[in-house]
Amino acid sequence: METKQHIKEFTIVDGKLEIESPSGNHYTITKTTCSCKGFGFRRTCSHLKEAEERGLISLLNEPKHISSQHTLSPEAHTIRKNALKQFLIKNNITTTEDMINTIEPQITRDSKPEDIIALAKICKYFVG
Ligand SMILES: [Zn+2]
Repeated sequence: METKQHIKEFTIVDGKLEIESPSGNHYTITKTTCSCKGFGFRRTCSHLKEAEERGLISLLNEPKHISSQHTLSPEAHTIRKNALKQFLIKNNITTTEDMINTIEPQITRDSKPEDIIALAKICKYFVG
């Protein structure tokens, strides 16, 4: 069974979701808002709804952790990404570059293994 998708791709920028709709439009989603016209009229929209249903909103949590990671060196990011890749492979999750790049900044010292697997599954849904 295939459900209609309203979000084709997404990235996380500055604690917000930048999404692309299947028709190629770009919108910015925060925890409670979307930049599309529909949201402007109705204060709700299919993008925000789907982002909630797919667990994307939960990726926007804890922005203070994310901003503190801007101080990490490129080497540290590479090490984190490699560790993440190994971890996911060990858990039988196929990874892609995009997936790793999306998940890595979300991982904090407090992230539990099951949180990371949940993140990977969310990303996998969008990567295909
Ligand atoms: Zn929207």
